[in-house]
Parts: sequence; structure tokens; C-alpha cells
Amino acid sequence: MFIDLATVALMGSLQGLLLAVVLWTSTGGYAGVARTSLRIRASALAIEAASLGILGLFGQLHDPYAIVLSNLLVLVAYAATVWALRMLLGARQRHGVVIAASVSCALAMTWFSVVSPNANARALAVSVAIMLDLLLMLTPLLAGVRQGASLARRSLLLILAASMLVMGWRIVDLMQVNLTRAGLLAPSLTNTVYVLLWSIQPLFTSIGFLLIYNETIQHDLHLLARIDPLTGVGNRLAIEEATVRLLAQADRQRQSLGVLMLDADHFKGVNDRFGHSGGDKVLQALVCSIRATLRDSDVIGRIGGEEFVVLSPATDMESALMLGERIRDMVESMPQLIDGQMLKLTVSVGVAVAAPAERDGTAVLQRADKALYAAKRAGRNCVMAATASKEDGNPLPA
Ligand code: GH3
Ligand code: MG
Ligand code: MG
Repeated sequence: MFIDLATVALMGSLQGLLLAVVLWTSTGGYAGVARTSLRIRASALAIEAASLGILGLFGQLHDPYAIVLSNLLVLVAYAATVWALRMLLGARQRHGVVIAASVSCALAMTWFSVVSPNANARALAVSVAIMLDLLLMLTPLLAGVRQGASLARRSLLLILAASMLVMGWRIVDLMQVNLTRAGLLAPSLTNTVYVLLWSIQPLFTSIGFLLIYNETIQHDLHLLARIDPLTGVGNRLAIEEATVRLLAQADRQRQSLGVLMLDADHFKGVNDRFGHSGGDKVLQALVCSIRATLRDSDVIGRIGGEEFVVLSPATDMESALMLGERIRDMVESMPQLIDGQMLKLTVSVGVAVAAPAERDGTAVLQRADKALYAAKRAGRNCVMAATASKEDGNPLPA
């Protein structure tokens, strides 16, 4: 079967241009690193499309300058794609390696096209540079597979691995067979597979990019929905989910879970004195103080205006009361300097403990809340334990 490779290249160019527009516009109003990455990939696609267009239109004329320009554009497009993909995957950039390889290749390719024409050496230089770029795209995806990568990442990995195989085959072929005057567009099996891949690969790579982009946005939205923007700790939803997760963990490990509910005392007065923005600063400083007393395995969340929850795994009532007292004491003994004025803040704490087999997160949070209410009634700035009757709170034994 005869395939006109110039037509394939032109079709690939048109397809690349359309894809570039689709990728660029699909980033919409989302502002994150994923958008920057997708836009870099869209620009790379447009550059790659221009390269294919030059190959399709001028390749047959065997104009050395057209060949140099076409290959230079391919190098830039691949370098930009490495940049975009490593950015999207959060992998360390390798700009130095990519630039050094691309510049060396560009010089060699120009030399073997214009000064001392040698089609094989020229094609070899470009193929080796592209192979390196593909490797730099593949490695972060491979690292992800070991940690259980998603379907999107595995698909892109497959596409890139297939591209590397074809490129490897072409490199071996170039070492054995002389390129004819018709160069890349001569109807040989390697040329056909290579040009077909070069024309179709942008489509598949871009689908891979879009899938990972979509995954990244989903992940970001998932996090955003669970983070309190003022203090940076988890919100009520995050705490509810963490409670379920930690209760299941406590059950598996036959350990109890300490649940502390904290509320800043007389916070309305803080706002009255320092204004709402001053109050916000106090809340941020309060979270820092509480965090300083917690272990890495403890979880803190903001479930209301000036109300916080701390979940402390492998903690019985005695340890949970001690933690509550440590937090209370820390807050009381560290006055805050707000707008040049000293503020002595205190907190009230309600403490409940979920037994190893307890799975009802709402019930244990309610017990801690009732204990907090008891602490407020007892005069504030104190720690109360939830009673066994689950009705009221008991003061911390002196
Ligand atoms: P109590 O000791 O009984 O807890 O007294 P309180 O004044 O702290 O109690 P209350 O819950 O009635 O008031 C909480 C105040 O916290 C009211 C509200 O204006 C303020 N607040 C809630 N969210 C925020 C916030 O995000 N920033 C600031 N600055 N203030 C907030
Ligand atoms: Mg309060
Ligand atoms: Mg409150």
C-alpha cells in the first residue's frame, strides 16, 4: 500500500493546529500550574504543526534550509513538551540537559544539512535528541507507576514508550541504511512508520495531557473543598472525613482516638477591639500555637468561626486531657501582639475519646462538643472531659 507521506505530514500539521487551539481554550478560567503546563503544551503543538507543515510542503523540494527549520521547530516543540509534562507531574525540571542536547543537536543538524550534507548524520542527531526528550518525559511517569499511577498517566506512559520504540528502531535503521535524496518522505517502511507516528503522536500525547490536566483539577478541587482558606487547616468536611478514617484505623489497631473540641473565649470582644481583620490574625496565630503542641499524627481542623477540632490517634482519656491542658496553657501563656497591642486569649476545651470499636464519628464529635459547652458553663479557660453518660462534661482533675 502506498501512503503519500507529504499528505500525511500536512494532515498531521492541520490536526496539530486544531489540537493546539482546543488545548489552549480548554484551560478556561482555571488558574493553576496545570493551566500553564497545558498552555505550554498547546504552544509546543502549534510549533510541531508548523514543522510538519514545512515538511509536507517543502520536504520534497529537498531544500536544506526548510529541513533545518523544520527540525529546529521539532526540537523546540519537544523541549517545551518536556517542560510542560514535568511541570504537570510536579517533577524536577531538567532545563540544562534539554537545552544542552537541543543546542548540540541543532548545531550538528545544521552542519550536516548546509555545510557538509549528510542526511543520515542529520537525522541521527535529531532522533537522538528526541529520544532523550522522550526519556525525560517517561521517567517521572515511570516513577509514578511504582506508586500506583492513574489510568491517564499509564496511557501517556504507553504512548511515550511506543514513540521511544519507533525512535529506537529509526536510530538503528539510520545506522544501516542510507537515506535517499527524497529523505524522510521516501516510501520506506521506517519512514512510513516514523512520519505516521510523528503525525499521530501529538493527538495521543495531547489526550494524555488533557486527562492528567483533568485529574489535577479534580485533585485541586478536592483539596480546596477541604481547606479553610483563613488558617490553612482542614475544614468541617475534612474533619468529618478524617474522623471516619481515624476511627477505622483505631479499630484496626485496637487503640482509642482522642477528640478535642476547642473554642476561643469571648472572641466577639476580640473583634470589637481589633476589628474583623485583627480577629482574623488572632485566629491564624491561635492555629499556629495549637499546631506547635501537636504530634505529626494529630489532625487539626476549623469547624466554625473560632471553633477547632483536634483528632489525636492512639490517645486515651488521660493523654487527651493532658493534650487539652497543654493547648489551653500554651494559648493562655502566650499573649499575642496585634496592631501594637497585647491580647491575652484563652480557650475552652471539651475532650471525648472513642473506644477502639466505636465507628460513629458524629457521636464522638457531639460528646466533645457537649464537654466544650460544659467548659464554657464552668467559667471558660478550662478543659472538660465528656462523661460516660455522654450527657455532660467532667472537669479536668486537679
Ligand atoms: P464564648 O466564650 O462563649 O465562645 O464567646 P464568643 O464571643 O467567642 O462566642 P460566639 O460564638 O458567640 O462568637 C464568636 C465570634 O467569632 C462571633 C464572630 O463574629 C467571630 N468570628 C467567627 N468567624 C470569624 C472569622 O472568620 N474571623 C473573625 N475575625 N471573627 C470571626
Ligand atoms: Mg468563642
Ligand atoms: Mg464559637
